[in-house]
Order: sequence, then C-alpha cells, then structure tokens
Amino acid sequence: MARIIDAPLGAGGACDPHAMHGTWGALSAAAARGLAYTDEVRAKTDALYENVKHVVPAVEWPAYAPLVAAINDMKRAKNAIILAHNYMTSEIFWCVGDFRGDSLALAFKAAQTDAAIIVQAGVHFMAETSKILAPEKTVLIPDLRAGCSLAASITGADVRLIKQKFPGVPVITYVNTSADVKAESDVTCTSSNAAAVVEWAAREWRTNRVIFIPDEYLAKNVAAQTGIKIIAWHGRCEVHERFTAEDIAELRTSYPGIVVLAHPECPPEVMSAADFAGSTAALQLYVEEKHPAKVVLLTECSMSDNVAAAAPTVDFIRPCNLCPHMKRITLEGIYDALKEMKHEIVIPEAVRVRAKQAVDRMLALPKEKPRAFETGRQPVAVELV
Ligand code: SF4
Repeated sequence: MARIIDAPLGAGGACDPHAMHGTWGALSAAAARGLAYTDEVRAKTDALYENVKHVVPAVEWPAYAPLVAAINDMKRAKNAIILAHNYMTSEIFWCVGDFRGDSLALAFKAAQTDAAIIVQAGVHFMAETSKILAPEKTVLIPDLRAGCSLAASITGADVRLIKQKFPGVPVITYVNTSADVKAESDVTCTSSNAAAVVEWAAREWRTNRVIFIPDEYLAKNVAAQTGIKIIAWHGRCEVHERFTAEDIAELRTSYPGIVVLAHPECPPEVMSAADFAGSTAALQLYVEEKHPAKVVLLTECSMSDNVAAAAPTVDFIRPCNLCPHMKRITLEGIYDALKEMKHEIVIPEAVRVRAKQAVDRMLALPKEKPRAFETGRQPVAVELV
C-alpha cells in the first residue's frame, strides 16, 4: 500500500485534507440526516473502502459509509452523475465520483453524459463549464462558496478593457474563470493543453503575440515553453503560488532521491527546479508510468491521496497546501444538493452561447496526451496588464 508522509513546507502547519470537515463532522452529518452504518450500508460500501483505506482508517469508515451509500442510491434514482475533480478528498473522489480527473477531462464528460443531473464535485467555475456545455442538464454545485482565487481575479469588463488596449490580439483564457470572462475570449485552455492552445492561436491569428489570462505564473510558464510573446493578467492561484524553490531544496535534503513534480500554476523558479511539470493529469500519468520510489506533488494536497490509490508501490511526501474552496465540497453537501436539488447553476443564454464558442474551440483541437512542461528552463518575462 502506498505510504503518505506529511511534509509541512515553509510556514505551513500540519496537513489534514479533512480538517475543514473531519471524520466526526461526517459522523454527526450522517446521523443528522437519519443515516447509520447498517449491515446493508456495509455490504454496499465495503468494496469502495478498498480505494481509500490508505487515507481513511478502518475505524473512521463508518462515519463516511452511510453518506456514500445514500448518495450512490440517490444518483441511480435520479439519473445523476458526479464529476469529481482531482482535488476532492478521497472519499468523494473514489467513493461517489462517477468521472474523475482534471478540468479538461471533466468538461469532456459534461459534454457527453446522458445523465439528467450533473453534480460538480469541484469549484464554481467548473460547474459553470458543465452548464455551458450541457445547457439541457441540471447542474448543481453543493456549496456556492466554492470559488477560486484565479476566477475571482478578473471580470468580463476587465477583458473588454484589455481587448480595447490590444485590438486584434487573440484572447486565450484559462478555464479557471467565470462564464462572463469566457464569453469575452477567443478560446479557452487548461493546464493540460495551455501550450498547445497558445501555439494554435498564434498560427490561426498569424501572430507571435497573444493575451493569456488570468494566471500570471501559468502565462510565464507557457511563454518559456513556446517562445510566443504573452500579455498576461496578475491573477494567481492561492495554493500554488505558495510553493518556492527553497521548498524544493528543503525536500531534496530531507528526502534524498525524491522526485519533485510541479503544477504549472507554480512560480517559474519552482518549475525550473522541479524534475517534471505538468497538469494534474500529466502528474498522475507520470506517477503511474514511472513508479518513482518517492515522490512529491507540488499541488493541492488531496491530489497525492487520490493518485496513491493507483500507485501502491510509491511513497508520497504530501505538502500541506489545501485549497479552501475545493474543501467546501463535502459528502453531506453533495447529499443535500442531490436531495434538495440545490444549488442550480444558471447562466444567461447570451453569455453561455458566447462562452461555449471559446470552450468548443478548445475541445475541437486534436486530443493529445497532457503535454509536460520542460523543467530547468530560464524564466521568461511577460507583459503584465
Ligand atoms: S487550487 Fe487554486 S486554481 Fe484550483 S480552485 Fe483552488 S484557488 Fe483555484
């Protein structure tokens, strides 16, 4: 079984992905909803427990199992699916998620599903993306407070001003944005395909200069990979911006032989010092294909727990950077969302149609393996607006 070893970095405290909720929170949440750990629940959930036993002790499983069983029953009864992002806690990701992955993989599933209801186990912009692609479905987000520092950094009005300043320059927008912002964009991208989309846009618009919003660090990292000049916004992911090159040096000293994998929302100096860099999908593939003995994923900390289920021989050194927005999504929140059909995502049709054009352009590009970012590159300057 994979080992998870906590490594609080820098000023970080002890790590517990369940800290905002907790086992006892789940226990009382189940009891408050009249759910108990019966023999029937045990029979329905024993096989699911196998996927999370490396992070949920057996003594704690009876707290989660009643909610897991009730959610799975409700999904079948209501023709609903749950799209679970890689940063969900493991009992959500492995035990109630029907489709799992990064933003790009979940967007494809939203576009393809026959289900009547989509519950987004992720943050608000992801639920909006599902609604953009599947307007006839009911899309629910279990907690309206599940936002994102990147999505909150920019508005549609900001993008209109940027376009006025740089007329004719294509606007490439990271999916971590609101529908309003996507509606003002030419094409969207994810961290799996950011470099490929930038290269495509440069070819299509016959230019060597693009607008890439809103993540400043992702923009710089893409500029270093592609050589294309980038006009960037000053948005940051509050989770990934905290990693430093000093953290990597500290990890290499404390855990000799460790393989350091970084997400491209990290600062450029972190990308330079890592052994491998890419989207959550690329990081997962790397672990599954290379089976490093000891690895650290410089990204949201639930990711290690979720990848560990499929990599039993790997030791994961888990940094302690939680995304507080992702952790708003809990089992009882999902249960309540499905039971009470809340909180439904609504997007004005005119905005949705324009946003869909930008997302569709991305989805129409040839499907390729998540592209890795070459590490060790010198940081490249971008033009910040
Ligand atoms: S991890 Fe960062 S980019 Fe992802 S939802 Fe949280 S704040 Fe947003």
